[in-house]
Amino acid sequence: MERYVEHAIAAGLTELGFSDHLFMYWLPPDQRDPALGMAEWEHDFYVEDVERCRRQYASDIVIRLSTEADFIPGHEARLESILRRYDWDYVIGSVHFLDGWGFDDSRFLSGFDTWDIDALYARYFDLVGASAETGLFDTIGHADLVKKFGHRPTSDQSEVYARLASRLANAGVCVEVNTAGLRKPCREIYPNPDLLRACRLGSVPITLGSDAHAPNEVASDLDAATKLIHDVGYASFVKYASRRRTTVRFAQLGQLGEEASPSA
Ligand code: FE
Repeated sequence: MERYVEHAIAAGLTELGFSDHLFMYWLPPDQRDPALGMAEWEHDFYVEDVERCRRQYASDIVIRLSTEADFIPGHEARLESILRRYDWDYVIGSVHFLDGWGFDDSRFLSGFDTWDIDALYARYFDLVGASAETGLFDTIGHADLVKKFGHRPTSDQSEVYARLASRLANAGVCVEVNTAGLRKPCREIYPNPDLLRACRLGSVPITLGSDAHAPNEVASDLDAATKLIHDVGYASFVKYASRRRTTVRFAQLGQLGEEASPSA
């Protein structure tokens, strides 16, 4: 974790959020894949580690405590009870599973063969909308993760995107601009420009994330994210502390700007 922080400082970041995976909480412990996220007994240690980094680097960078949690319909109460144990600065909500199928896991790629891709997209985005409506999450992680392996819809998605954006806006969540997609077969930031534009038109705020799974991925492709954000017309992004938003306006094209007043 120290190496992640040091990479963030070297990259010029002034604020960094850790968001390790709170994963597979809906399964009995012996059925969870330990490679995919923290075991429940690790949560205390993770939070302590983030707090230790926060103290250690207090004069160099602001460190936020977050987690990325799966949305699984029917298990909201269980998730809520786990989330309530810690003082998160923000919680990222993600859809990685459709009816138990880990569609973003390359071991289960053949699952795509059983789907009409347009129908899959519709089902996936419906779940993303439902995740926002739980009220458990502050921002939606990699909101079009379904494209990860390059499966693209054949039909126009503009209505799907507009409906999702309106659900996100009504739920009061942000959408994460996540550069990890550039490192995946889809070779595209999450969300794609059309979905992000729909979010902007629907007044859904954005958060920024590199979804780093290694220290040198911290802040990766931040320039590409900044360009995308400007191209679709966002003038600000938000960041979180104690689950409250601060809006940060872009001072000028291509630059991460100065802080504006806190908002709801
Ligand atoms: Fe994820």
